Amino acid sequence: MDPEPDVVVVGSANLDLIVRVPHHPTTGETVLGGDHARTPGGKGANQAVAASRLGARVAMVGRVGRDEAGEELRRSLEDADVDCRYLAVEPGSPSGTALIGVDDAGENTIIVSPGANSRVCPEDITAAAAIFTQSRVTLTQLEIPTETVLAAAAASEGTVLLNPAPVAPLPPALLDRVDVLIPNRIELAQLADSATPEEISAVEAIARALPVPTVVVTLGAQGALLVRDADALHIPAPSVKVVDTTGAGDAFCGALATGLARGISIEEAMLQAVHAGAISTTRSGAQPSLPTATEVTALMGET
Ligand code: ADP
Repeated sequence: MDPEPDVVVVGSANLDLIVRVPHHPTTGETVLGGDHARTPGGKGANQAVAASRLGARVAMVGRVGRDEAGEELRRSLEDADVDCRYLAVEPGSPSGTALIGVDDAGENTIIVSPGANSRVCPEDITAAAAIFTQSRVTLTQLEIPTETVLAAAAASEGTVLLNPAPVAPLPPALLDRVDVLIPNRIELAQLADSATPEEISAVEAIARALPVPTVVVTLGAQGALLVRDADALHIPAPSVKVVDTTGAGDAFCGALATGLARGISIEEAMLQAVHAGAISTTRSGAQPSLPTATEVTALMGET
């Protein structure tokens, strides 16, 4: 029998088609890029692989299409030791696909075609009920229907982490059950319907107004900010040579979930997560760039 997971990830699996571009196209513009690369991705699958690579026992709840991409996505999760008992095959839709452009500065723009991910439903949570009561952390994002995210949060007896990406309206019943919300700076501003904050003090003020007990805002090269109760703690990122930022947030979320599942403090878990995110920016792609625990420990020793 499979051991019960430390972390359950409820989310998307996408095939990423990545093209390097000299600059991102504006409306109506065609840009010639390099050869495309085809790698497994999707925020859910990336975060599941990130946590597994860092040593957590991870189960993934989601859906892939009955197609070649679906087989590829399942294989990549299994190769990373992610428990795929609850990764269903969706007969009516193709696997999710993401079209990713990466410019010379390593910044990306992404178009996602959700496909099978849009069919992940509350019944999938019911079917996997046992793992929600036994795992320590549930980690989820918004590339699947919000009603399913809500069902997962409601079924969880452990800590619930929500990476609100891409941003969608969050029903009060979901916010009530989220223990830690992990937006990046842009998502934070979208959630609060405000301008993107520049100063860390402005980030803190917006995060503090959100109705969840703990908000961890990722700040790209500036690291991350913990906002909880009366406290705010800024953890800077180490300085690294950036190649491709795709997957940095996923590395961060997977690492934070792993740390919390292990029972370390959120401050320590964030320190590891900031280093995991930084390492992922030094390599291309989402899943291929995710670090191991040894790599995170090594970078923490250097900085
Ligand atoms: P997202 O990928 O969701 O937009 P961020 O850009 O905030 O999220 O990145 C997530 C984490 O990855 C950051 O908190 C940081 O630890 C790391 N990171 C991202 N960009 C850089 C960078 N340029 N230098 C160092 N670390 C980075």
